[in-house]
Amino acid sequence: MGPSIDTKKLATHDLPTPDSDSPVRTRKPYKFSTLCATVENPHQKDQYGSSSVPIYQTATFKGVAGEYDYSRSGNPTRSHLEHHIAKISSAAHAFAVSSGMAALDVILRILKPGDEVIAGDDLYGGTNRLLGYIRNHVGVTVHHVDTTDPASILPYINPTKTAMVLLESPTNPLLKIADLALISKEIKERAPAAIIVVDNTMMSPYLQRPLEHGADIVYDSATKYLSGHHDLMAGMITCNRDDIAKQLAFIINSVGNALTPIDCFLLLRGVKTLAVRMDRQQTSASLVATYLNSLGFKVHYPGLPNHPGREIHQRIADGNGAVLSFETGNKELSEKIVGGTRLWGISVSFGCVNSLISMPCVMSHASIDPATRAARGLPEDLIRLCVGIEDPSDLLDDLEHALIDAGAIALSVQQNAYVRVQPDGKTLNKAVEQLAIGGSKSKEEVEWFVSAPGKVILFGEHAVVHGVTAIAASVDLRCYGLTAPRDDNKLSVHFHDIDNFYHEWDIDKLPWDLISSLPRNEDHPEELDQQAIEALQQGPLNEIGDDKPQARAAALAFLYMYTKLGGGYRPSFNFTARSTLPVGAGLGSSASFSTCAATALLLLFGRIDMPPLPAPSDPSTGHLHMSHRGRRAIPATIAEETNRWAFVAEKILHGNPSGVDNSVSVYGGALAYTRAGFGKKSGMEQIHGFKSLRFLLTNSKVPRDTKKLVAGVGQMKLDQPEVVNALLESIQNISDEARRALADTEMNREDLLSVLSALIKENHGYLVSLGVSHPSLETIRDQTGSERYGLSTKLTGAGGGGCAVTLVPDDFKDELMSDLLTELRGNKFDPYLTSVGGSGLGILSPYEQHRNDRPGSWQNLGHLTPPKTPADSLTGEALRPHFEVKPVSELPDWANGLGKWLYV
Ligand code: PLP
Repeated sequence: MGPSIDTKKLATHDLPTPDSDSPVRTRKPYKFSTLCATVENPHQKDQYGSSSVPIYQTATFKGVAGEYDYSRSGNPTRSHLEHHIAKISSAAHAFAVSSGMAALDVILRILKPGDEVIAGDDLYGGTNRLLGYIRNHVGVTVHHVDTTDPASILPYINPTKTAMVLLESPTNPLLKIADLALISKEIKERAPAAIIVVDNTMMSPYLQRPLEHGADIVYDSATKYLSGHHDLMAGMITCNRDDIAKQLAFIINSVGNALTPIDCFLLLRGVKTLAVRMDRQQTSASLVATYLNSLGFKVHYPGLPNHPGREIHQRIADGNGAVLSFETGNKELSEKIVGGTRLWGISVSFGCVNSLISMPCVMSHASIDPATRAARGLPEDLIRLCVGIEDPSDLLDDLEHALIDAGAIALSVQQNAYVRVQPDGKTLNKAVEQLAIGGSKSKEEVEWFVSAPGKVILFGEHAVVHGVTAIAASVDLRCYGLTAPRDDNKLSVHFHDIDNFYHEWDIDKLPWDLISSLPRNEDHPEELDQQAIEALQQGPLNEIGDDKPQARAAALAFLYMYTKLGGGYRPSFNFTARSTLPVGAGLGSSASFSTCAATALLLLFGRIDMPPLPAPSDPSTGHLHMSHRGRRAIPATIAEETNRWAFVAEKILHGNPSGVDNSVSVYGGALAYTRAGFGKKSGMEQIHGFKSLRFLLTNSKVPRDTKKLVAGVGQMKLDQPEVVNALLESIQNISDEARRALADTEMNREDLLSVLSALIKENHGYLVSLGVSHPSLETIRDQTGSERYGLSTKLTGAGGGGCAVTLVPDDFKDELMSDLLTELRGNKFDPYLTSVGGSGLGILSPYEQHRNDRPGSWQNLGHLTPPKTPADSLTGEALRPHFEVKPVSELPDWANGLGKWLYV
């Protein structure tokens, strides 16, 4: 092998920093782009001082004692290139070979039969193919693991057999991130002899230098960014270890796959502009990724705030690169998009100054069989974009045309912008969808009116924290939420029950670039997006004073959902919430607010769709046949989606809610809830056959500190475990008995009421023993339980104030009730007579209809609903002006009179 690199002479970044020409002002080391553009090898000066490295287009060299003898072993043009690449890669050695795959081939030849290799599961297809070959022909075992999770590598590390670990980060085409530094460290600790190899093609040495993070060998397909013009094939290998360099040099010389002089020349020329090309390309890539993300496509790009592993990538790399991929949800749609572009060339490969588009599953990764692709989570509809240096506005324009022509996006007249059309398996026609909802109105034009109930815990509060089952039921006191369109590009909220709070924001000024929307069909992850929360706190919520923590929290929950659901959809509207529930009294006012806000937003954004109605032409099918006063008219899938988002809002409001409140609010009825742990599985079970019961809820109006009360019981359990455990066991028995009785369809009503009455008294006694009652609650208990009224009462929720629940038998006389209410009010308590176990989430039917002659039957014609927008004053009135001013006592009747309500 010729003297390609002299490690002794070659220090990292060895282009000498010029000597200081002033003792005061020292010279700084050159930056990457300077190093890149300056091809200078102090040990290989050109005899004529040529500015560009000459091409030594020769196979042999004359003489016997010269530096070079035969070009397979060494060539001056190649030496220049290798020196230059070593310099910009923080490497002591570099080798130029005929392609990226040739580079990998050279590296894999270090392996011996019996060796084991650990490799990523989202590798370049050609890499997979070559690994498969050596597995079959060389007797090397290859383990494919998910390198995004370093822990998944550990079981495969064998201290004596693991000879090589092959990593890519970000991967191609899913841009998965592997923590190269952490993995290298873990491997070195467990299998010190293993060689860590990184394919750095996606990043190039400009953006990532894995040798600095513990890798032993790095290779690049220089066909890509290093050359930048798709006019040559080449591979570059770099390393610092002399022993490895020696082996690689030996293999390259033996195999004869070193890069030809003319390609070395071309590559050297290309590398000079690496930094400028990359800067431009990744800036444009970021624009394209943001654009697609804002339309609601699932986009894979490390520059997006929600990209998994983004922080790791930021730690180990200096940029996000210029390759991204996105999913359309439909393979045919993707094919249409790819086929519809003009500026984006349909081509495999990347790294060129020209932009390319491809579908990995049918192109670059077609060599991986479909089953393996599926197993490795490579979506068949995935489109990969490799962004070039063209003007970004032209690139976006061309892409937008292709998306429109393919039917992936369509113009929304209301938003004056293109919005995504959801494929949902079959392509959805926006026009048809709009006809199905609210007559000829679009989702944004409809005033969506929703409502959700509060809850009462009947049995098991406090004990539930310690693993005991609690029974909760919906109360017939509801929160109402109404969206009303605006036409000034503003978003506003009006929370009547939080000090009549009103605020509005400019939609364009929301921190969109810091918040990534969740693509449709994707569930909100378990963790909240803290970056989004931070961005909202610092930005739009900053306008709200610290003295309004409740309003701020509710606005945060609302804006979080709006921005997370939105993306390309940025409808302008007002959301007003009003409640007939006392707020902060432990009756689930927050969960009913969360449910209303989530439902209204999901409807408005089209994330949930009401089922289409039968055609009205035939009167017998033109009716909405809904039994149970509209109950079960909302499909379970909608309820589930709403519940998930209501839980997200509850998390924002309360940190770590159990989920029981929002579940009752969505599903209504009654449910038994058991928390995980203590040898039990967490579970929420609907109590079927629950009969609606009358209860009196009395708000003591004594504020309570739930956290303190819960902690108090916890402490008591530590201090007196026997006493508390016995109490908990008794409460579990109460819950079990109540559950059985409530679900027992055989039991007559009188017996049920007397069982419940006894259980209520008993449960309250235990709560007193747990120290969570309050004198005001005892007063309510005494008043309702007096000889005259004889009712059973217990505290509900955390206690220490808040509310008490009193079971009201069916035959309890109206006059007695009226006296009791007066007495309670006389003590400055707020009593509410309500029933429990009624409907959950309700949506005022958006379908045009009018009341039919037959009771409970509604005809799918007429003009009673959908509620009309102000713009449509011809036939109807907007709901909002009425909703804003109705006295709270009239709200339920007014809402019911508006039309058909559909319930879960
Ligand atoms: N590694 C990656 C990540 C690649 O994308 C490619 C080619 O697309 C290669 C290696 C192989 O390089 P070459 O085509 O130069 O052999």
